[in-house]
Parts: sequence; structure tokens; C-alpha cells
Amino acid sequence: MEYRFLGRTGLKVSRLCFGVLTIGPLQANLPLTEGVAILKYAVTRGVNFFDTAEIYGTYPYLRLLFQEVKTPQLIVATKSYAFSAAGMKKSLEKARRELNRDFVDIFLLHEQESALTLRGHREALDFLVKAKERGLVKAVGISTHTVAGVRAALAVPEIEVIHPLLNIQGLGIRDGDRSQMLEAIEAAHALGRGIYLMKPLGGGNLLSEAESALKFAFSQPAAAAVAVGMKTREEVDFNAGVADNLPVPADLKAKISKEKRKLHIEDWCEGCGECASHCPQQALKSGPDGKMHVKEEDCLLCGYCARVCPLFCIKVY
Ligand code: SF4
Ligand code: SF4
Repeated sequence: MEYRFLGRTGLKVSRLCFGVLTIGPLQANLPLTEGVAILKYAVTRGVNFFDTAEIYGTYPYLRLLFQEVKTPQLIVATKSYAFSAAGMKKSLEKARRELNRDFVDIFLLHEQESALTLRGHREALDFLVKAKERGLVKAVGISTHTVAGVRAALAVPEIEVIHPLLNIQGLGIRDGDRSQMLEAIEAAHALGRGIYLMKPLGGGNLLSEAESALKFAFSQPAAAAVAVGMKTREEVDFNAGVADNLPVPADLKAKISKEKRKLHIEDWCEGCGECASHCPQQALKSGPDGKMHVKEEDCLLCGYCARVCPLFCIKVY
């Protein structure tokens, strides 16, 4: 596995970053020991970088992983929607407590859309910068699905890490296309910001062309790492193989390309609309039956809808 410095943070990350959302309660909901076994397997393949978020509910898996794997020193990035200093303090304390770590390597403002959103989160950002001075965080940044989010971060020198959405088809970029996002990412890289990409497989929509989609992401010189959601050893083998530029066995390629993950809405949906109001892709629509339905072609399996459903109707499998 190749390792690269994440901008000027001093953190040297594996090119393949494990997107932990996939194993947690919003998606596969693997039993703790099963989830940790996959994470540990990824470590044996050279992965030292794990991406999560407060809302993913995956801190227990990572806590156990960190308890069981002392070397190499594993790197974690997490995120919070907090916008105030008090809210971010709570998020950071929760992460440190639940991960059982004195510090968090990378703390991001979750889903920043524009300069306006960033201004609205200034207090939370300032809190993280102070936490970094106290050694509680090593690097501070944002995650974003928009070109405007990346561009806005360029004007804020405190943002050292950017976690933007990019894939071969530009799926899920909310305000532009692949080339506009690439241009913004390259500008950020030129300024020394650490970049690690998300959604290289478009939330599962690009699984039929997984190898070329991953190669596209790993070939971006501006990206130190690429976060990929995984839940099986086969997926780890496939993704690590592509990251390492190794030939992928035909049977593994066939298996991965046939995989399909989908959002399922259970029959007991009451059509309240709460999920649709939290979908960044406008992928949820009410049907004539009074229940919510998903437009699969627009869904990125981000899981944001699942966490707000009061009736626990939404699953990915
Ligand atoms: S939040 Fe749950 S109950 Fe409400 S519309 Fe969505 S799936 Fe149905
Ligand atoms: S439908 Fe749900 S999982 Fe799909 S993009 Fe919208 S919020 Fe994300």
C-alpha cells in the first residue's frame, strides 16, 4: 500500500481509506465483532486511515479496533454538523470518549455547501482550531458534496483538510460537474490542503464499472487518499488491489461488479416526509400509496435519510 502525506497536516495516510459508514447501523449494521474483523483485515492489507462521522454511529467499532491494533498507529477522521462552539465541544468530547483516544486525528465540519454555510459554522471551526492548539485534534477541515464548498474552503486558511465528493461520472456533485470539481480540488491541493475523496463508486451506482471508477479516483494526483465503504473481505481485497495497482482476479471483479446495494423503505412507512427533507440528492418522493419511494438513480446511499426516520423504515442492503 502506498502512503501519502495529507497536505501539510504531517499525517501520512494509506491511499485506500476505509469508509466506516458501510458496516454501521445506518447500513449493513454488522455485529460489533464482525465489523471489527473487516476493519482489522483492512489493516493487514495496509489500510491505516478510517473515515467516519458522529451520525454514522460507528465509534464502537473503531474503539475496539484501536484497542486491538496498537501498531501501526491508525488515523481517524470524523465529522460533526455542530455549528456552535458548545455543540462542537460536545462532538469532540463524544468522539474522544467513545473512541477512547486523547485526540482525534482529523475533525471535519460535516457537509459544508458554500461560503455561507462555512460562515454559519465559523464558531465551530474556531473551536476546532483552538482544540488543535491544545493537542486534542491534529488537523481541521470540511467535507462537502459541492464545488462551492471546496472553493469556499480555499479562502479559509485554517481548513487544512478537504473531503470532497468526486467520481468518474460526477454523480452526486450538487452544483457542478466532474471537471469543475476537479479544478477546485486541484486549486486546493496547490495551496497545500490535504484532499481525500469520497463516493468514488457513486454510492454503489458505479459498481458495474468499479475497477475503472476506482482507478480514476486513485489516479488523481491531488488526492492523498480515497475513502471507500466496505463490508466484506472481498471488497477490501478488490479495493486494496486497485489502490496497489495490482491485477484484479477475474472472479473477484465479476463478484464485485454484480453487487448491488439499494435503499429499502419498509412497508410501515407513514409518509411523514422527514426523510425527504434531509436528502441532499432529492432522491425521495412520495408515491400515490402515501409512502416514500426512492429514485435509485439519484440515491448515493449516504444514509442521511435513515437516521431521521422516526419509524426506522430505511435500510441499505
Ligand atoms: S421518515 Fe420514515 S416514515 Fe417518514 S416518510 Fe420517510 S421513511 Fe416514511
Ligand atoms: S435517499 Fe437517503 S441514502 Fe439516498 S441520497 Fe437521499 S438521503 Fe442519501
